[in-house]
Amino acid sequence: MADKYIYDLSEGDASMRSILGGKGAGVAEMMRLGVPVPDGFTVTTQACVQTMNNDGQWPEGLKEQIAEGLRRFEERTGRTLGGHDKPLLVSVRSGAVVSMPGMMDTILNLGISDDTVEAVAAEAGNERFAWDCYRRFIQMYGEVVEGVSAHLYEDALSAKKAEKGAAQDTDLTADDLKELVAEFKEISNEALGGEWTTDPVEQLYRAVDAVFRSWGNPRAEVYRKANNISRDLGTAVNVMQMVFGNRGDTSATGVCFTRNPSTGEKGLYGEFLVNAQGEDVVAGIRTPRHLAEMESVLPDAYRELLATMARLEAHYRDMQDLEFTIENGKLYMLQTRNGKRTAAAALKIASDLVDEGVIDKHEALRRIEPAQLDQLLHPAIDPANTTKPLTKGLPASPGAAVGGLVFDADTAAEKGENGEAVVLVRFETTPDDIHGVLQAQGVLTAHGGMTSHAAVVARGFGKPCVAGATSIRIDTDAKTLAIGDQVFGEGDVITLNGSTGEVFGTALKLIPPRINEDFQRVVTWADEVRTMGVRANADNHDDAAKARELGAEGIGLCRTEHMFMATDRLPAVREMILAENAEERAAALEKILPMQQADFEGIFTAMKGLPVTVRLLDPPLHEFLPNYLEQALKVQELELTNGDPVVLEKERQTLAQVKKLHEQNPMLGTRGCRLAMLYPEIPAMQTRAIIRAALAVLEREGKTVGVEIMIPLVGLETEITTQREIVDRVVKEEFARAGKELPYTIGTMIELPRAALIADDIAKHADFFSFGTNDLTQTTLGISRDDAENSFLGTYVVDGVLPRNPFESVDVDGVGQLVRIGVEKGRSVNEHLKCGVCGEHGGDPDSIDFFQTVGLDYVSCSPFRVPIARFAAAKAAM
Ligand code: ADP
Ligand code: MG
Ligand code: MG
Repeated sequence: MADKYIYDLSEGDASMRSILGGKGAGVAEMMRLGVPVPDGFTVTTQACVQTMNNDGQWPEGLKEQIAEGLRRFEERTGRTLGGHDKPLLVSVRSGAVVSMPGMMDTILNLGISDDTVEAVAAEAGNERFAWDCYRRFIQMYGEVVEGVSAHLYEDALSAKKAEKGAAQDTDLTADDLKELVAEFKEISNEALGGEWTTDPVEQLYRAVDAVFRSWGNPRAEVYRKANNISRDLGTAVNVMQMVFGNRGDTSATGVCFTRNPSTGEKGLYGEFLVNAQGEDVVAGIRTPRHLAEMESVLPDAYRELLATMARLEAHYRDMQDLEFTIENGKLYMLQTRNGKRTAAAALKIASDLVDEGVIDKHEALRRIEPAQLDQLLHPAIDPANTTKPLTKGLPASPGAAVGGLVFDADTAAEKGENGEAVVLVRFETTPDDIHGVLQAQGVLTAHGGMTSHAAVVARGFGKPCVAGATSIRIDTDAKTLAIGDQVFGEGDVITLNGSTGEVFGTALKLIPPRINEDFQRVVTWADEVRTMGVRANADNHDDAAKARELGAEGIGLCRTEHMFMATDRLPAVREMILAENAEERAAALEKILPMQQADFEGIFTAMKGLPVTVRLLDPPLHEFLPNYLEQALKVQELELTNGDPVVLEKERQTLAQVKKLHEQNPMLGTRGCRLAMLYPEIPAMQTRAIIRAALAVLEREGKTVGVEIMIPLVGLETEITTQREIVDRVVKEEFARAGKELPYTIGTMIELPRAALIADDIAKHADFFSFGTNDLTQTTLGISRDDAENSFLGTYVVDGVLPRNPFESVDVDGVGQLVRIGVEKGRSVNEHLKCGVCGEHGGDPDSIDFFQTVGLDYVSCSPFRVPIARFAAAKAAM
């Protein structure tokens, strides 16, 4: 028997998202609850997936099942698709498992044709309405299903308005629209070489197929990539009876949220348009009115809407994003979903719902999307700002954006990718602009409301957005933006305040964000639940202080290379590297020692007694040395200009050294403990600096510091035994010198496959392991991160050769397996071995989830990802 591809709406419910898609399951659930929704049926996501996997061919039985579903649908409604009297008009709507607002296609008013338009007019007692539907249908169907280019219709519409002296679409009469429909049909038929289909049943099949195809359109791809949504899910297709918000002044359409999706506050949040179809609101074509105004326009429907909002929120126990249409005063709900929200709103809503007794703390945590929380750390406009805004639009997505103006999404994407701060300005944004929105600091539009898809998407990505700034004038050809009497061109810098809707004509000063009360409250719930520690990677006092403020419980990786890079130190460091004998080297190290000690004192002070893992020098040597070519040029110039012979000789010697130390492949060269094996004076000096700093801080602050000394890039047992001996010896010397002791541990970084494989041998000599998953990924996959990210790696991810960039989210099967082996083998000989991770992966929620299963004691990430890691670790533990 063939699979079941069709479900009547009455057969579905909320639990069937994966086959009916979010929209289909949502509408079915509303029907089950007795909320008024139009009837219909859903084509499953499986039908889409099988079509995709079969070169676009429908699976066997799908067409027959749709025909059968349609027959039942017609029977229930007492109407016929394409029928002369009582014609059935439907929408054909995309609807993925994970909602992707506006990214795919939907066709409205299908079923209207030469045969049915008169009946539609007669039934509504409104001829103009029927021809308006017909006009809309041809335009949407032609564009979406048959690929007729949009501007052909738009030009004809504009010409018709000009001819009739109509300012707005709504000024066109029934007769004008009749003429327009005739023209539209001609345009369509011509564009398709005479192949324009007029049979609604055939149109329905084609529309379903077009929605399948829209799963693969470029904007949907971009959106999926940005949200890590799998391409394999496919979209469902919902065929639903049309209800008409464009039947006159007692009809309307709109969108509302049960709480404010920007701030999370309770209160009325929504927009509507009288005498319009839903696309006008969600596509941002017209700027709608605030929902509160509906109370006086359509009081009964308004009251019913408010009651329905409350009911659906209580049912789903979460903030809902709803679409509705009112036909002749009667309310229909068209969509309900858990509303997308900013990180700030997510925390407030979760916190409020716990207070309201709707959900418990665990459920609240489950609903926080850790990756989204870095939005909280976006800078804000300095409250001391006195500059006056030039204009004000709708506060569609909060936060501050400063950037140079760009007037199209492609330029925004290009400049943004190059690291330029840009603000995208558009008449209205459409889902096609998504790649530009992703790369821009913020978005400003002249049209569209706060519930348009563009605003929803901006909030989801945490991009500040000011929408519907009706007083601005944009000239995309000339690339100018006029506000009042000021004119700005491409690259001119403006500032947006997405929280207030204000637009400023200069770059305003921004201040670092403050973590708010809701965050503080909810994150303590996370801390109660999680079992892994969260540390930060920090190399200096300021980063360490920031990390603590954000809740880090220690430093998991303090790199010491950066400390050597400062311009005032580099000469001494070069002296050390280029030294020809031990005495010269000792002299250079003597100069560096007090500087190192000062660095460590700063960090230890900031961490107030928490543990700090200091990694001994892990240098790609070439980074400290003069560039070979530049040095050669310097020598040559001295030779040509008969420079001072003493200087010349010295530069020649340097050149010779640089040449000798040059490595073909420095990332696999004299790095980590290998340098320390060659020059034991270096780890000795660093150990001295660490211990002296710790003792000094103990003396000064009366607080012990958790000193953890880490030996990098170990691959051989002898490396760790040798290095451990050096460190132990120097520590003892320093204790004796000071007449004081403090606790310390010595461990190693596991970042070579060999180290993971012989972890039991290494663990005999280590108190802790820190998995350096950045290098471990490079050495396991044999991929150079710096080179690959701009070449084949990107293509691999797009083509699905790799599911994710392995430098962003840990490669569980390969690198992850080595981590697991390392932990197991290590603990098999050293049961108290403390294990952590200190790569970029320490701040990635999916990787954190994996590390929990391996039994790591802590993760360590950059300070700004600490809040994310705290939540992710909590979710991983639940
Ligand atoms: P999207 O995923 O882009 O929001 P939808 O399938 O929700 O696409 O359709 C877009 C809009 O079309 C909706 O907001 C709704 O207002 C309108 N619409 C969809 N189906 C119907 C219908 N059966 N009757 C009236 N309007 C509809
Ligand atoms: Mg929708
Ligand atoms: Mg490394």
